[in-house]
Amino acid sequence: MWRWREGVRGQHEPNPITIIALGLSPTGIAFVRGWAGKGWSRHIGVFAYTPLYVTTVRGTGKVLASTHQAWTPTDKESKYKYHHSRSIILPGLLDLFPSHTHLYILTNSVKMVPSIKLNSGAEMPQVGFGLWKVDGEIASDVVYNAIKAGYRLFDGACDYGNEAECGQGVARAIKEGIVKREELFIVSKLWNTFHDGDRVEPIVRKQLADWGVDYFDLYLIHFPVALEYVDPSVRYPPGWHFDGKSEIRPSKATIQETWTAMESLVEKGLAKSIGVSNFQAQLLYDLLRYAKIRPATLQIEHHPYLVQQNLLNLAKAEGIAVTAYSSFGPASFREFNMEHAQKLQPLLEDPTIKAIGEKYNKDPAQVLLRWATQRGLAIIPKSSREATMKSNLNSLDFDLSEEDLKTISGFDRGIRFNQPTNYFSAENLWIFG
Ligand code: NAD
Repeated sequence: MWRWREGVRGQHEPNPITIIALGLSPTGIAFVRGWAGKGWSRHIGVFAYTPLYVTTVRGTGKVLASTHQAWTPTDKESKYKYHHSRSIILPGLLDLFPSHTHLYILTNSVKMVPSIKLNSGAEMPQVGFGLWKVDGEIASDVVYNAIKAGYRLFDGACDYGNEAECGQGVARAIKEGIVKREELFIVSKLWNTFHDGDRVEPIVRKQLADWGVDYFDLYLIHFPVALEYVDPSVRYPPGWHFDGKSEIRPSKATIQETWTAMESLVEKGLAKSIGVSNFQAQLLYDLLRYAKIRPATLQIEHHPYLVQQNLLNLAKAEGIAVTAYSSFGPASFREFNMEHAQKLQPLLEDPTIKAIGEKYNKDPAQVLLRWATQRGLAIIPKSSREATMKSNLNSLDFDLSEEDLKTISGFDRGIRFNQPTNYFSAENLWIFG
């Protein structure tokens, strides 16, 4: 269906597509600028002197622009930049045009995801793909298919035990020309047993080698808890227990020690941005006192049963972007036999969420995801089924009313699923106590 959309970060579209884009400056003069991921493109085309341009790609025999289109929100004045990664149209004209551009695109097929500007300067896609519990046997195909479906952000971690396989999916997509490394946003996380300052860089280098890339776009401290080092040759990923069974052995590393080592990753070019996950307000305040590089993002459990408004307020005030995980609440935790995950009304089946979805012709998952993105958060849902991959990715093309947003926030019960004490007996791991 043809529709107007405001600019967003682009996604690869494997099929032939036609795009008509309209560039409007604040003065009403039409122009479009080219952006090639790392800098302004030397390519600008036929649309320079006209408010309308048409690009046809693949299979037409007359290629005016590439299959890689991207639209990125930048700042308040210049709302969106035009990503143009493989343009072969008239080089050189670009710099004649001013940078403040509002873009609207009439499209029948380009998938578009807005991005969030991080305090590091990087642009992070607002919708990404989560990799927890993606089985190693299928992870390569899942990542490859997710790239084909249009995902550009992948949220991985040492602890997920599938980084090498995920990397194979990335390598295949790059080899086939579907995407370039710089168009991807690869996130990984530091596991608890590698918090000692001298353990951070070696493990990041191993994780990078597993992924087959030479930098992470974002690297997070997974949990604010330091456990004793377990050598990767002994067990990898090491998990929570020192003996692989039940013993919890803390390490003496402070968050300051770990964060200082994280900062050196940025200095060495191993991570473009660094951040934290599962941190609460007190620890963030402390971290911000000594951080030379401020955390770019905070990744937290966030769903209508755990709204965490105060934490979001803090993050906003401090310029830290927030990523929501487990957006469907109990759905991700039922398999762990967690009593409260099994007893609670599944959000995906909740009559109120369903009724809201029906108003917008959206499924409950899309409602839950849109509630999070309208609250300004990034989301990283996971699904290995192609249809849900796509519907999750396409959850931004409608707006919930203020009233509906409030109704959903009203589900808040402060219920947290993802904490160690819910998985195993862990008397000294009351991270969220
Ligand atoms: P999720 O919310 O992505 O998925 C929960 C369940 O819902 C899965 O079984 C999935 O298959 C299913 N699902 C997905 N889309 C659906 C749809 N449209 N309709 C119906 N069911 C659907 O949960 P998650 O995996 O817990 O979280 C997402 C990602 O967040 C993870 O993969 C991981 O990358 C990240 N995460 C991070 C942490 C952390 O400690 N930082 C913890 C948990 C998850």
